[in-house]
Amino acid sequence: MSSPMDMLPRVGLGWDRHALVAGETCTLAGVVLDSPVGPSGHSDADVILHALTDALLGAGGLDDLGTLFPDTDPQWKSASSDRFVTAALTLLAEVGLRVISADMVVICDRPKLAPHRATMRANLAKLLELPIDRVNLKGKTAEGGGGDAAQAIEVQAIVMLKGVPRAGDCS
Ligand SMILES: [Zn+2]
Repeated sequence: MSSPMDMLPRVGLGWDRHALVAGETCTLAGVVLDSPVGPSGHSDADVILHALTDALLGAGGLDDLGTLFPDTDPQWKSASSDRFVTAALTLLAEVGLRVISADMVVICDRPKLAPHRATMRANLAKLLELPIDRVNLKGKTAEGGGGDAAQAIEVQAIVMLKGVPRAGDCS
């Protein structure tokens, strides 16, 4: 049974960072970029989708990505990270929440994101089942001040959720 509080919007914040390694496939926001370096790590190392998933789970008051999908579990090894986003959306629906907007900042000196930004943004909107103007993605370089920004890629994601009536709730 939902209370009026459940209908108020909720905000979630996610962050992730992966090392960039030569020869790794570079999958960002579900899009494979032609790049000599790519993020290394668990699953397909899609740092954007990992930060986004944590923002979604955080806003919903749920356990985080590492707890729900541990890298010690072989089923998540080399997994396509869109599965994490989809799973998070399903968990949110089960507790009567739906994402209504998302914004992300990607901090890296390479690869260059600008040529791929529109494609990544469209893919994120599709994944979240939102209109394109509810989803955004900005690339930032550390402009030489970020220490190892050339060797790593970092993402901050923020989402807003709203409560939706669940089946069985009185209205
Ligand atoms: Zn990650």
